[in-house]
Parts: sequence; structure tokens; C-alpha cells
Amino acid sequence: MISMHSEEPIILEIPVEIAGEDVWGVLGSKDRVHDKLKDEVSEAVDTVYNIATPKAVFRTINVLEVGSNFVKLESDMEIRGKFISHLFGGAEKAIFIAATMGAELDRKISQLMENGDNIEAVILDSAGTAAAFNGFTHVLNYLMTRALPDGWKMGTCLRPGQTYWDITGQAMVFKALPAHLIGMELLESSFMKPQKSQSGIVPIGSQLHISSDPSQGYCKYCPASNCPMRIEPFIEIVN
Ligand code: SF4
Repeated sequence: MISMHSEEPIILEIPVEIAGEDVWGVLGSKDRVHDKLKDEVSEAVDTVYNIATPKAVFRTINVLEVGSNFVKLESDMEIRGKFISHLFGGAEKAIFIAATMGAELDRKISQLMENGDNIEAVILDSAGTAAAFNGFTHVLNYLMTRALPDGWKMGTCLRPGQTYWDITGQAMVFKALPAHLIGMELLESSFMKPQKSQSGIVPIGSQLHISSDPSQGYCKYCPASNCPMRIEPFIEIVN
């Protein structure tokens, strides 16, 4: 159960979860398996299982104030943005999360490129991306099923690099989390290293207004067809 106070960071061992369909999805061919590349995809999945070193870290920080275009948190942190404030309506806490598949995958992808095995490199890159995404979803589901007290709701996972929060938002995630403990670092470009990593913030609270599903709650009756919740790939968490 998540405590009522801001918490110290918690490190989680997470599994590698990846299937061929996930890789095809990242390759942009979700509904069509290309026979000629089937073996390469299976091989890439096996490689990810063999060399990934998945880990995650998360930390809960209390929300102090939700303004019209800012969210103030304990530990002297503030996230700015109108849509972010909207998604934090009613939130009592924010959970910061970072998850990675480890550095060995990056090394293997670079090695394939250097050897001129470009197709294998692209496919392994996609497999790593799928594994990182699944690992991150695993953490969200863990938090949902094992960590939230009864009656609390979990909102939408906000990720730096989307239209509502530019990539420099990563600095906030890395300020909140000791991501170096799981081998992650933030580059000057605001991208993460290892590359096969994911990060985000999830608002939680008993009175949270917006859930992670744009077809439920407030969203159900909202006419905003251009809302990022409806047009961007949000991760659905079952409340
Ligand atoms: S669909 Fe409407 S209520 Fe839901 S997040 Fe978007 S703007 Fe808000």
C-alpha cells in the first residue's frame, strides 16, 4: 500500500515481457507479419530475453497545489502546463516512475549497426522498445493492483515528449528519482540512457477527476475530440 506521505524511492525487479506481435507493432506492421522477417523477429525477441537487465524505480510525492497551469509538489518541484493541471485535478499524490531494459541492449544494437547488419539492428531496436514499453506497463499494473489503497484512483500516465509536456520534462523525473541506481542517466539532449527506457508521472487520489480511460468518468461526456487523451497513445490502467 502506498503511504499517506511522500515516500523514499523503491526499486523493483521487473520481468522481460515481449512477444513477436509487440515487435511487429513497433515496426508499424501490427496486423501483418512479413514472412521474410519472421526469423529475425524471433531472434530479436530471444536476444532481448537473454541480455536485457530490466529494472524500475518509483517514488510517491505529495501534491501541494493544483493551479490552472501548474502542479506544485513536495520536494520543491513544480510541473507546468494547462493540460497537466487538468489531468491532476483532484490528485493527492504523484507517482514518478522510470524503467529500463539496461545498457547491454544498446551495445548490441550499436554492434549490429557497426557490422552492417542494419535490418537486424532495426528489428532488435524495435524489440527493445517493445520490451521497455511492456516493462513500464508492468510497473503501472503493479502499482495499480498491489500498491494503491482501497478507493484510490490512478490517473493517466504523463510522459515527457508528448504534445502536452515537452521532452525537457525528463529533468523533473530525474530530479525526483535516483534513476542512476538502476543504471539510467539523463543526457543533455533530455533523452535517456540506456535508450530502451521509459519514464512518466501518474496522478493518484481518492477524488481524482480524470481516469486513464478517455471513455470513462468526466471524459465520457466531454466533447473535446482533439484532446491528447483521445489522439495520443496513452497507457490504459484499469481502475
Ligand atoms: S477528454 Fe475531455 S475531460 Fe477527458 S482529459 Fe480530454 S479534455 Fe479532459
